[in-house]
Amino acid sequence: MAHDTDTILIDGSEGEGGGQILRTSLSLACIAGRPLRIENIRAARRNPGLARQHLSCVRAACKISAGECDGAALGSRTLYFRPGPVRGGDFSFDIRSAGSASLVIQTVLPALFTADATSTITVTGGTHNPLAPPFDFIRETFLPAVRPLGFGCDASLLKHGFFPAGGGKMTFRIEPSRANARRPIDLCTSDQPYRINARIYLARLPEHIARRQEKLLLRSPIEIADVEHVRVTDSNGPGNCVMVRLCGAVRTTVFTAFGMRGRPSEQVVEEVVDMAGGFLQSDAAVDRFLADQLLIYMALSGGGRYTTNELSNHLLTNIETIKKFLPVDFKTEERAGVHQVSCLPA
Ligand code: AMP
Repeated sequence: MAHDTDTILIDGSEGEGGGQILRTSLSLACIAGRPLRIENIRAARRNPGLARQHLSCVRAACKISAGECDGAALGSRTLYFRPGPVRGGDFSFDIRSAGSASLVIQTVLPALFTADATSTITVTGGTHNPLAPPFDFIRETFLPAVRPLGFGCDASLLKHGFFPAGGGKMTFRIEPSRANARRPIDLCTSDQPYRINARIYLARLPEHIARRQEKLLLRSPIEIADVEHVRVTDSNGPGNCVMVRLCGAVRTTVFTAFGMRGRPSEQVVEEVVDMAGGFLQSDAAVDRFLADQLLIYMALSGGGRYTTNELSNHLLTNIETIKKFLPVDFKTEERAGVHQVSCLPA
């Protein structure tokens, strides 16, 4: 395929060096209408190159933009992608593994918001995966955070899918977002006091696991008001995760840790309690995961600011990737352990 002169070059080994550089680049290539060449894909991961999940993201980006690509193969470390115009429509993708369905959504959502018509998108794969946004986080934390900026989307879970069996299904209805209806983000004030709720998912595993996790949660230093048990009966395989949900007057922040074979419940509960506890103590408005996921929307809505308790590597790398596609700049400032992230026109 002939490569165009306005191609944006991305080095996938920079910063965090993982899948997010690829996903953000695909989204923004569609939005900017610019071809993309990405090299050293996921160079910092143990299994570099495109895994099945990333390949699904590439195919999804091609589909929504009638785009073309070179190098879309398992293990490929270089990809050339030339998007066409993004069109709204009904899309359906199957990752054919436990790869995260949320991360496919994360790739196409920004571009579909800029489309000319409403879209529906259904993705089959993992709905509750380690190292990816669980469905609950997308529905309760992420989508309500981007709605006031002018990005309206509804999500439903049709079937649960846990690692390693996968096979879950989620569906999204995305309304086009008109550029003149977008608002800059301003999320600098914490939503405390929170009502703290825990949610334990258990699929095809012995009941005593969830009971023990409940006991550990109730003994933890954070004051959990109630524990909700979700007994999953529709999944293809076993699964367990523990969520701590901080429910404020306006926002809900969902933290998640995953149980897996050989990992004691003490560790699972400690992980999620530590994440929630660190966030609570900081009095920041946005958790570290939402912090990296908001950046694209911030850039598309012309700026704004938020506070977060941690500047993750994902966040810093995403800033650098976004700047290669859109005429924006970001600033980060720390005050007493809280980081303010601002976005301004370049
Ligand atoms: P990568 O590691 O590059 O594939 O990117 C992972 C993405 O998943 C990032 O956008 C993270 O913010 C997001 N993520 C990972 N774990 C969680 C979690 N527990 N809750 C919400 N989002 C998550």
